[in-house]
Parts: sequence; C-alpha cells; structure tokens
Amino acid sequence: MWFKNDLRIHDNEALMVALEECKELIFCYCIEETWFEKLDLDFRKMDIIRFRFLEQSVLNLRQNLEEFGAHLIIGQKSALQSLPELVKTYSITDIYAEQEYAPYELDLVDQLQAVLPEIQFHFFWGKTLYHKDDIPFEIPKIPLTSKAYRIPVSKKSKPRDPFDAPVKLNGVKQVKTESFPSYTAYGFSKREYDNAQVFMQGGEDAALERLEYYTFKSELLTGYRWSRNKSDGMDYSSKLSPYLALGCISPRVIYAKVSAYEEQIKKNQSTWWLIFELVWRDYFTFKQMRIGPSLFSTAGFKHKELVWENDLVKFRRWCDGTTGIPFIDAHMRQLNHVGFMSNRGRVNCASYLVFDLKIDWTWGAAYFESKLIDYDVSSNWMNWHMQAFEIWYTNPVYQSNKYKAQDFIRKWVPELSAYNDIETLIPWEFNIPGYIKPIEIYPKWTRAINLIKKTD
Ligand SMILES: Cc1cc2nc3c(=O)[nH]c(=O)nc-3n(C[C@H](O)[C@H](O)[C@H](O)COP(=O)(O)OP(=O)(O)OC[C@H]3O[C@@H](n4cnc5c(N)ncnc54)[C@H](O)[C@@H]3O)c2cc1C
Repeated sequence: MWFKNDLRIHDNEALMVALEECKELIFCYCIEETWFEKLDLDFRKMDIIRFRFLEQSVLNLRQNLEEFGAHLIIGQKSALQSLPELVKTYSITDIYAEQEYAPYELDLVDQLQAVLPEIQFHFFWGKTLYHKDDIPFEIPKIPLTSKAYRIPVSKKSKPRDPFDAPVKLNGVKQVKTESFPSYTAYGFSKREYDNAQVFMQGGEDAALERLEYYTFKSELLTGYRWSRNKSDGMDYSSKLSPYLALGCISPRVIYAKVSAYEEQIKKNQSTWWLIFELVWRDYFTFKQMRIGPSLFSTAGFKHKELVWENDLVKFRRWCDGTTGIPFIDAHMRQLNHVGFMSNRGRVNCASYLVFDLKIDWTWGAAYFESKLIDYDVSSNWMNWHMQAFEIWYTNPVYQSNKYKAQDFIRKWVPELSAYNDIETLIPWEFNIPGYIKPIEIYPKWTRAINLIKKTD
C-alpha cells in the first residue's frame, strides 16, 4: 500500500481493496528529494513549514498503523528508488495507491511502472467529493465555466458514501517502523526547522478533531457564510484545506458530517456554502486534468500574452511582506511565518502582484506552492490562473477597509501596532517612521484612500 496524498486510514479505497485482495501488506510513504530543490527564483519548491506539516501528518499515519500492529516504511529519496527495493526485498506482486491527476505526479507513476513491469498496479480515485466516474462529464469535456459544471453535477450525481476505517491491517510481520528522515537530508538547517511554526497540527487525528470542532462542538459552521472572508484566527473558516491537501481527511467524510449537521443542528446558507467550496475544489481538479501542463505556463491555458515587468526587487518585497501596503504585507508575513493565508488574503496578494506590480503570475503561484501548508496543485494553480486571466482587479486598500483589517495588520506588521485605525490602513499618508515606504501608490486607489480618511 503506497500512501501519497491520502495520509489516512479512514475512507481510503486503495487501502480497503488492498486489505480485501492481499494476504499481507507492506505500508510505505516516499519523499521525493526533488520537492525541496531550489528554483531559479531563489526559493525552494517546498519550504520548511510544509516539510514540518508533512512530517507531522506522516508520523500520525505511522502511529495509526501501529495501533493495528502494522508499520510504515518511509522512503527518503524517491519512490523510484524505494519501491523497487521493497519489491525485491519482500517479493511484492501488487501495488495499491490513490490515482494521480497532475503532470509531475503522473510522470513519476509512469516512470515507476516502466521500472517495475512485472508489478500489478491498482489505482483508485479518492481526491474529490464527487467520484471522477460519477460526474456527468468525460474529463476532456469538463466545462470551462464553473456554473456549467456545477449545475449538472448537483442534478445528476451524488457523493459516494465513505468507506469505514479498517478493523485489521495484515501488516507483514518482519517490517520495522521507520523514522521520518531528518530535515538535514534535504538541506534545511536546525535554525530553519526550529523556527518553523506550523499553524496547526498535521495528521488524520487532528483533521477529524478539527471537523468535529468546527461542526458539532462549536457550531461555528452555522456562521461560516458570514465569517469566511476574514483573515485572522482559526474560527472564521473551517481550516480543513491543509488536511485535504495531504489527504488526512476525505471530502466525503466532510460531506457526511455536514449532512448530519444539517439534520441535527441547522441547515442554512453556511452549510450549503461549505459544500459549494468543496465542489469548487473538485471543479479545479477536473478542469486541471482537462487542461494538462499548459496551465503552468506564463501565457496560461488560454495562451494570453499579458505585459509583465518582472522587477525582481519588487517581487522580493512582495515575498517578504515589505511592499509598504499594510494589507498585503500582513498577509505575506503571515504566510511566511505559519504557512497559511486566508482566501481573502490570497485573492488580494495575487491581484496586487499581477495587476499592480505586473509580475508574472507563475512566480507568485510558485511562491505560494513553496509556503502553503495546504498547497494543492489544482487549487493553487487554477486559482492563480483565474486571478491573472479571468477575474477583475481587487483593490487592496478598499478591501482592507471593507474587511476591517486593522487588528490583523497590527498583529502581523508590528511597525504599525501603536497606530490608530486610519494610520494603520494608509500609513503613507501620515509619514509613519519605521514602516517602509510603499513601492507605489496608484491613482486607482484615490477613492478608497479618501473613504478611509473620511471615517475619522
Ligand atoms: C491565489 C490562490 C491560491 C490558492 N491556493 C490554494 C491551495 O494551494 N490549496 C487550497 O486548498 N486552496 C487554495 N486556495 C483556495 C482557498 O484560499 C483555500 O482553500 C482556503 O482559504 C482554505 O481555508 P479553509 O480550509 O478554512 O477554507 P473554507 O473556506 O473553510 O472552505 C472549505 C474547503 O473548500 C475548499 N475551498 C475553499 N475555497 C476554495 C477555492 N477558492 N478553490 C479551491 N478550493 C477551495 C478548500 O478545500 C477548503 O478547505 C487558493 C486561493 C487563491 C485565491
């Protein structure tokens, strides 16, 4: 059983079928060294906060397997090295795993199948709420607008029921539990590792606990529709994305919980909206499968040529959260510190990078990929693509006022912590010492700036 982005034992079809069909199982997870390579833009493809969240999640899977007397082998370099070695050592005949959907991962699977021609591979679809085989579209015909996708799906399809968690695991006895490789194997320093603060605990147990908390325990779900656009704290949105990204939780389990909540506590716009967001996630996955590798190019899959200035100094300032625009800086610093940013923050930071700084959207998407603990190929790259090519401009000055971001800014930009609400939102108007001057103030922000001044 080859775990990848399905780090859970509940609702895991590959695991359930493997248990039914095999007398004995070996469980493994493989890290790819290439995940941590440095890009030309001078940051890693996957940075230390993601490493730590992954480590927590894999270790929790190991613990859950051990409760059934089974063990997890953890490959340090690549599946291309670890799996052939395991096949040889344990005379493995079959490999069970979740089906991939993105080009890099599909390519890895192809290479593996080429080096292991004698092995029977069994892949199972598990990423989305609606099973790939149950939606009323073939992948090459996935509609290019979300509405044309959503309406037929909701009318003609239904999410499948989750699989139960297994009651036994049939692990091969002589396999021993392995430790998670040290951060040093991937070139991280002790300082980087110790300083990386993960926003939340990784793993299946924490994921299921979070779902219970957000629904039945706190009933926060009832207010989700109205709180979801905020930026700070744990409670304004579900925070299930990091768990979904690594498969510590399945979307079908979330759906089942929300349905129970609707029956027992409250059914309202919020419960509808949370599922609507999971349907967006599905849609981006299927649409990305349709589009293929052209999604990752600067011209996007529509081959649109925008004019980019690509000023590296401005890009660095955006990455570091030192643009001089408090709403952007607060969000980028939060991302750098904890590996998470609200949806409102992501929309604003992406729009500012693309339309104000005129920097290639793929640079921004790559930076988010490096940092976000909920990094998901399709959610990240499709959202960035949409911000760059399909959505109107988002004004970060107007939005900082609309969403009353003063406290959030004061928290993440300590240079502004002692200033009043207006000074915090538009510090360049007040010559505040200690906070960096903005890269540029655009005439299109004048109305928003005047509006903030009038709230005095
Ligand atoms: C530029 C940009 C990049 C993004 N990159 C990612 C990414 O790498 N990984 C990721 O999971 N989300 C990404 N998102 C979508 C969204 O910001 C996050 O899913 C959301 O902020 C996660 O917080 P939550 O779990 O509390 O979400 P909630 O608001 O509680 O939503 C519940 C779930 O619905 C899904 N969801 C919500 N909004 C979206 C969306 N716009 N697109 C796809 N799925 C969505 C997520 O799985 C989320 O966990 C990105 C958005 C933008 C604008």
